[in-house]
Amino acid sequence: MKIMILNTGGTISCRNTASGYTPDAAFIEEALTNMPALRHHDMPEVVLRSFEPLLDSANMTMQEWNIIASTIYDNHDDFDGFVILHGTDTMAYTASALSFMLENLDKPVILTGSQIPLSEVRNDSYANIITAIWLCTKSPIREVCIYFNEVLLRGNRAQKVSSERFRAFDSPNLPHLVHIGINLVFDYNLLLQPKTQHFNLQLMHKHFIANFRLFPGFSTEVLEYILNSPIKGLILETYGSGTAQNNDAKFLQLLTDACARGVVIVACTQCQHGAVYMDSYATSVSLKKAGVISGHDMTLEAAHCKLLYLFSKYDDIVMIKNLMATNVCGELT
Ligand code: ASP
Repeated sequence: MKIMILNTGGTISCRNTASGYTPDAAFIEEALTNMPALRHHDMPEVVLRSFEPLLDSANMTMQEWNIIASTIYDNHDDFDGFVILHGTDTMAYTASALSFMLENLDKPVILTGSQIPLSEVRNDSYANIITAIWLCTKSPIREVCIYFNEVLLRGNRAQKVSSERFRAFDSPNLPHLVHIGINLVFDYNLLLQPKTQHFNLQLMHKHFIANFRLFPGFSTEVLEYILNSPIKGLILETYGSGTAQNNDAKFLQLLTDACARGVVIVACTQCQHGAVYMDSYATSVSLKKAGVISGHDMTLEAAHCKLLYLFSKYDDIVMIKNLMATNVCGELT
């Protein structure tokens, strides 16, 4: 078995410097190369590749998503799985983006990172790296996942839920894919099944999309400004099960006009758990009437990346709207 570790940076690769934690390529390369566990006979052959420079994930862009996805695509036949070392701050975005870009993926791609760098004596890096590699070799995983602190999550369902706890990620709308203890107990009903179509790479391209988070008493002028720019898609971060004010004619008119112009507006919930139901309240029916579509139970990260992916792949707005509300690779229920 042969696994590629692709190191993009993040806390896991950092050393403490005068200007704070900074990824240190020489340190992490040496530490990984000399890690005894990676030479244990129970472990697969591991090949290390690294970004130059290593990045704090706050600096990740679509360009890096394209590099990661292309590296996996180009090396797909030579490896049994891929472990991506990544900063935690935008890991859920990268995992979501990759889940769409790597169409019909049939091998494990597992992102992991840490809250404390490997360079520190007390760290969560070591266990996360070893178990992520271990999962790649043992598993029937054919999708993009995040492994972190004893939980394996579907990548496009995961969110960073803590900036301090070792359990930094969760997927509130989907149970964990594996129960990890002394034994690994896979939930075969949840894992994505073997694909019938060929593995394919869809790169991301730049498109004008934005998120707009509702809050009580927000100024409609701000929304007007956004919608009057040459925007193609908007994730509307609505309340609860997909509600927004319906006593503000200007707000609803802005949405109606934008939808009529072909802007794809997707309602997602600000809640961590649960879904958008556009028929349940008058304050959500009004959004539906304006032409806003439901993001169901997608995370904000998944909805954002999916919108970018669909605009990168298709021109047909009706098709994009339909697919936005349809399960493509396990991102919505
Ligand atoms: N700022 C870091 C990053 O996202 C945080 C981390 O990795 O935990 O790269």
